[in-house]
Amino acid sequence: MENPFLNAQEQLEKVAKYLDISADFLEVLKVPQKVLEVNIPVKMDNGKIRVFKGFRSQHNNALGPYKGGIRFHPGVTKEEVMALSIWMTWKCGVAGIPFGGGKGGVIVDPKELSEGELERLSRGYVRAIAPVIGARVDVPAPDVGTNGKIMEWMVEEYKKIYNNDKNYKIYKDNEILATFTGKPVELGGSLGREQATGRGGVYVLQALLDKLNPKSKYRTPKQYQNSNDKNSKQDFEFPASNFVLPQPVRIAVQGIGNVGYWFAKIAQEAGFEIVAISDSKGAIMGKIEDVKAVKEYKEKTGSVVGFPGTKPITSHELLTTDCDVLVPAALENVITAENADKIKAKIIVEMANGPTTPEADEILNKKGVIIVPDVLANSGGVTVSAFEWEQNMKGEKWDERRVNERLEKTITEAFEKVWKIKEEKNVDLRQSAYILAVDKVAKAMLK
Ligand code: NAD
Repeated sequence: MENPFLNAQEQLEKVAKYLDISADFLEVLKVPQKVLEVNIPVKMDNGKIRVFKGFRSQHNNALGPYKGGIRFHPGVTKEEVMALSIWMTWKCGVAGIPFGGGKGGVIVDPKELSEGELERLSRGYVRAIAPVIGARVDVPAPDVGTNGKIMEWMVEEYKKIYNNDKNYKIYKDNEILATFTGKPVELGGSLGREQATGRGGVYVLQALLDKLNPKSKYRTPKQYQNSNDKNSKQDFEFPASNFVLPQPVRIAVQGIGNVGYWFAKIAQEAGFEIVAISDSKGAIMGKIEDVKAVKEYKEKTGSVVGFPGTKPITSHELLTTDCDVLVPAALENVITAENADKIKAKIIVEMANGPTTPEADEILNKKGVIIVPDVLANSGGVTVSAFEWEQNMKGEKWDERRVNERLEKTITEAFEKVWKIKEEKNVDLRQSAYILAVDKVAKAMLK
């Protein structure tokens, strides 16, 4: 089993030579500033008490309050949460938003709990971590296995602790709200947040495709859709990397949760073709005309497998399926030394956190596969979370157009910066993203 914490450290070591940082300072950046481990007793529906273990890792706050989601998953480990908090630091640094890196997690399979048990666990977790979070300290959000409803319970619980007792009122209401992002819109959440991670990933993919052929021999899917020659079978060359992609570009997406679904749906609307989708139970392959219908089918039947007009394949087969762009949007360490060589995609957009192991990264780089790293590709989520925080702190409510426009601007600017460093230093996109972020964090810590 890969250890994501060691992977996160190895990725940092790889870029150290490009930065003006000493070996002992590098050691500081390789570990979280603080990690809280908590035990949460929960009264189950059968009257028995079950104790769940949870964590909150605070990697770095040089650029602003720690920021990062809370994961409810049976595979959560302390190392995983620490790794995810490290990636959050670089992600906020790449995105250019005023936050640092944090992450939380509880070892639990939320699907096994009743709604009441899940609520009691969520509230118990907040009581346990309340002393170390806050709008100006550490701002949690949803991640795998958590959602807006859970954020709602968490805000309520946090409010109970810090604001209901008049003698102890230390935060203004807007700061209570701003302590959690990814809230339901009626409760101070931002319009566009639910779609933001997927939408941001599509913006990044489009920016990359434009970059790969600046002479616009290649047209973005939107231009392609609007043109009259939709049936033309002409392929377009990417001179920068010497490979050819068909029109429309074919995408396989692993995972149809929040991130995978919105990525696939928005990409489809933008003119990309979705050719495979998976969930934890299996995968489907074929020309998928309507991503929304696949999601509805999964909601009804429990899995995407069996969706009419598609062929069932395994989740592993999806990764090596014939496609142009592979989008891992589920869990980490799915692209490994074992399957990297068999991957047919020419571009990988890492929408999940840490989906590619360092060994696989090397194999794919040698093969000429372009990997858009997680810290850039999925930074749309934390970017709109930062917008949510800003709206709460200022008591504002932005319309969705404003949110999406700011997201597009922020993420394409981040992409441009990463691309520039890649060109200047002749490194891959992951290294250039790390150089950008680590340099920023190091300078902020030493100012
Ligand atoms: P989610 O819980 O909504 O969805 C996870 C999806 O992965 C589900 O469809 C599940 O069926 C699928 N899945 C689980 N195991 C699988 C397997 N073995 N094979 C194929 N599919 C599998 O979670 P999410 O919020 O969509 O997060 C997905 C990834 O994106 C995670 O790595 C998360 O850290 C990352 N991420 C999420 C956000 C966000 O805004 N939600 C932001 C940045 C990064």
